[in-house]
Amino acid sequence: MGSLAMSRVEAIEQPAPSIADEVARLAREELAPLAAAIDAGSVYPDELLRRLGEVGAWSSHVPQEGPADLRCAIQSIAALGEVCGATAFMAWCQSTLVWYAANSTNLKLATRFGDGFSSGRLLGGTGLSNPMKCFFGIEKLKLKGRKVDGGYLVRGALPWVSNLGEGHFFGTIFEREDEPGDTVMFLADCSDPAVTLAPCKPFLAMDGTGTYGVQFRDAFVPDELILAAPAAPFVKKIRAGFILLQAGMALGVIRDCIRIMDEVNAPLGHVNRYLPQQPQQFRELHSEFEREAMTLASDPYNTDDSYWRRVVALRLRLGDASVAAAHAAMLHCGARGYLRSHRAQRRLREAYFVAIVTPATKHLRKMLADG
Ligand SMILES: Cc1cc2nc3c(=O)[nH]c(=O)nc-3n(C[C@H](O)[C@H](O)[C@H](O)COP(=O)(O)OP(=O)(O)OC[C@H]3O[C@@H](n4cnc5c(N)ncnc54)[C@H](O)[C@@H]3O)c2cc1C
Repeated sequence: MGSLAMSRVEAIEQPAPSIADEVARLAREELAPLAAAIDAGSVYPDELLRRLGEVGAWSSHVPQEGPADLRCAIQSIAALGEVCGATAFMAWCQSTLVWYAANSTNLKLATRFGDGFSSGRLLGGTGLSNPMKCFFGIEKLKLKGRKVDGGYLVRGALPWVSNLGEGHFFGTIFEREDEPGDTVMFLADCSDPAVTLAPCKPFLAMDGTGTYGVQFRDAFVPDELILAAPAAPFVKKIRAGFILLQAGMALGVIRDCIRIMDEVNAPLGHVNRYLPQQPQQFRELHSEFEREAMTLASDPYNTDDSYWRRVVALRLRLGDASVAAAHAAMLHCGARGYLRSHRAQRRLREAYFVAIVTPATKHLRKMLADG
């Protein structure tokens, strides 16, 4: 009786688990058993992505009548990344899609899709690599569109877009052929018969992320699916959030690399201590990055140039540190990390993705160099 009373008191005193705690629990209990199959490309975890939506993983960063706060979303993506980098990437895709819809001033679009995306009932991602590179003078826009009654006709192809499948949506941008220089951001509907998803050749990692080449054959995009026209001011508004949410991927991968180094300390510490990079250095870096990410993530609409440069600089350091931490984890593990069954080599492949996904290391360096 006494112990029942005690457990009731304890239950009352326990704070409700935060969204990030719930995400971490699902990561340990439901994602961990799937991580190897996702890495091998035999599973695209759509059911788990919907479960994560049910616990609020995709909704915490939706702006509430003004400001937005990305901290919880980044922590949630990091919790997934500690277990599986590919799932952290899909979480970023979904969170970014939510971020687009939540910032659109097209009320019809927000009403039709806002809840669907943020609850995980509707899944999808983002095709902004090419537009981001275009806005920073690296390549030309690959999609072209022209105005017709009630919308636009869009043609062209994007080589890689992730977190896609039947019934999925993603945000991307075309250039108007009838108004050269004008750009329009829209939601692409993967179920449209004029939009084809072509499987990609196998990647180094990320094969379970629902990544396809997407072709538009004069696809009709109704006004209801327009996120922003013109696109440029909208991209300026959402770009810090787009980049900061990627911090979750890096923080998760780095944290697990530290754990891998710690795990081999007992059998190999006597010789691993001669390696130049030690887990303690990465622990300090991780804390520093997390602090900076949390500070920047609480103010994603900041328009100061100095704020934007801090976002870009943090993203660059996160990509470099992900690769460095995964490299160090490989060296600490030795032969056991060289086994295909060990996650150290998966972490190395995932870390390279953090460094090459848009904005890639070279892109970020160009942004900082251009001023
Ligand atoms: C697994 C995976 C998932 C991705 N998911 C997304 C996504 O969800 N959304 C998104 O917008 N982008 C996605 N990308 C693209 C990614 O963000 C980067 O744009 C890409 O990795 C290249 O970036 P980069 O700046 O290094 O460009 P670079 O590699 O320097 O140049 C890229 C350009 O080179 C050409 N190119 C090079 N290799 C090939 C090839 N094999 N096939 C076709 N064209 C080629 C293309 O024109 C391409 O635009 C994904 C890439 C990968 C590998």
